[in-house]
Amino acid sequence: MAEIERHSFDVLVVGAGGAGLRAAIAAHDAGAKVGIVCKSLLGKAHTVMAEGGIAAAMANVWKEDNWQVHFRDTMRGGKMLNHWRMAQLHAQEAPDRVRELEEWGALFDRTPDGLISQRDFGGHRYARLAHVGDRTGLELIRTLQQRAVALGIEVFMECTVTKLVKSDGRIAGAFGYWRESGRFIAFDAPSVVLATGGIGKSYKVTSNSWEYTGDGHALALEAGASLVNMEFVQFHPTGMVWPPSVKGILVTESVRGDGGVLRNSEGRRFMFDYIPEFFKAETADSEEEADRWYEDKTNNRRPPELLPRDEVARAINAEVKAGRGSPHGGVFLDIASRRTPEYIRRRLPSMYHQFKELADVDITAEPMEVGPTCHYVMGGVAVDPDTGESSVEGLYAAGEVAGGMHGANRLGGNSLSDLLVFGRRTGLNAAYAVVRRGDRPTISDEEIRAASEHALAPFSIEGGENPYTVQHDLQEVMHNLVGIIRTAEEMERALTQLAGLRERITRLSVEGHRQYNPGWHLALDLRNMLRVSECIARAALERTESRGGHTRNDYPATDDAWGKLNLHCRLDGEAVGITREPLPQMPDDLRELFN
Ligand code: FAD
Repeated sequence: MAEIERHSFDVLVVGAGGAGLRAAIAAHDAGAKVGIVCKSLLGKAHTVMAEGGIAAAMANVWKEDNWQVHFRDTMRGGKMLNHWRMAQLHAQEAPDRVRELEEWGALFDRTPDGLISQRDFGGHRYARLAHVGDRTGLELIRTLQQRAVALGIEVFMECTVTKLVKSDGRIAGAFGYWRESGRFIAFDAPSVVLATGGIGKSYKVTSNSWEYTGDGHALALEAGASLVNMEFVQFHPTGMVWPPSVKGILVTESVRGDGGVLRNSEGRRFMFDYIPEFFKAETADSEEEADRWYEDKTNNRRPPELLPRDEVARAINAEVKAGRGSPHGGVFLDIASRRTPEYIRRRLPSMYHQFKELADVDITAEPMEVGPTCHYVMGGVAVDPDTGESSVEGLYAAGEVAGGMHGANRLGGNSLSDLLVFGRRTGLNAAYAVVRRGDRPTISDEEIRAASEHALAPFSIEGGENPYTVQHDLQEVMHNLVGIIRTAEEMERALTQLAGLRERITRLSVEGHRQYNPGWHLALDLRNMLRVSECIARAALERTESRGGHTRNDYPATDDAWGKLNLHCRLDGEAVGITREPLPQMPDDLRELFN
């Protein structure tokens, strides 16, 4: 076998978004030799696209805010399916993680008295999102990236991991390839942290970019870990709907947080018609009260436009289905008639430019057209809440690829705080474990040969399936049959079609050679996209109720019995198996917070 490039680290971090960078910094600070691998350029992860802010109960704007309120909001937003311990650690530690970012050089927007400013977002009782205009992710990444580079952490950019390698049941490292040259590379590492982000590219309409093919989810599954809550995919209520080339691109929730309202084709502010019982007590029931809330949050209740995302997405879907949509199949999001042009340009500069440049719409003068877009996956690798370790020794996960934290639905702003809190915890624990374990497994030549052959398989088939056609067909299946509203009959059809696609991907063929070959890259990504799609469809079929991001037309009610169960996906040979497992028990002192 030809020699391949090889490196050795204590902790290998796969992914250079907020979770990966924060984990790498923590592992380095704990004394580990750390490497980061990322599929695209450093600084180009999804985290950079985050707009609205980082949720943390810092009480800078509302002194009534504290971690208990944040914990309660997060659990209620997740429809009580969140891992309570993750939600607790997240709410308790997020303020310190934001202050630490500031110490490291992040420049947040300020309150008039000079504190870090915090803005309103759906599902958060108080203004809680620390932000930098609508470019918060950019500042977060800039700060973490500068620190990681200054610490001398080695980064392998445009390098894709295609397999996790184990030895005697433990993680021994990872195998991958340089995207430009197509050459293989292996990393020996007793601790591997997955921080690979989301799965959005399995869907036709998505806010996610090309990298989000569920690689970390699939790698973990194949290594023997389980994925939890995969039926819960978040469809963000407001993506662009027009022109077709930009369909799905995110329109930040900050537009609604800053006063924007949703209207149907009749001009009606329809969200008042969709306030669920669960949120009635804390939601305004008249336009007057909703509008007063922006100035006086103590004596008024929140506008229904700021209900959790799943509620708003379903409402928009229902309006469009009822024939009250906008010309291009969405609804209207109007901030122009509610705020001055100066305010809009100052608070929402990216949105202003996005609509001007991509849709020729001036959002200071006219409403936007928006509709749901696949945005985030609540499901992910099941991990220990305190350490981030999966059920496979030495394999860790943090950020969007990890499951449990957000339950059935994530609140806006809770991802950036999740990345910081659990990125740090996971990096530290991955480093401590290397010292604790002492010995280091190594990757065998046999493993490398098998991983190389698997990666090269699409070159050995002539006249087989085209990866782009298969990707298109997969996205159609997921969009049409496992989308925002689901039924058993549709998901059974989806599973049959996914089985057909699984057959087809064994016959994928690519032309040319290994040097920068996007068709080959897609062929490798497709295996992961399909695995993840099967998990979503199987879990969604199994959960016969509606909750959070999972809406069943044939089981529209939320069922208390299901509120006590998580679904775990594991691989059994090539098949995805599902098990029902009880939710971890919340201690009484936390339970009290819901009385
Ligand atoms: P990412 O930032 O997605 O990074 C993943 C990394 O993994 C990348 O470096 C990628 O190259 C790498 N990778 C993937 N696969 C491989 C592989 N096989 N090999 C090597 N590397 C790999 N959340 C909020 O809290 N507030 C917001 O305001 C907000 N706004 C958002 C706006 C948009 C447009 C989008 C898309 C998301 C937004 N989110 C927001 C969600 C949030 O940005 C993401 O959930 C979060 O950034 C995910 O971070 P991460 O570190 O887990 O992964």
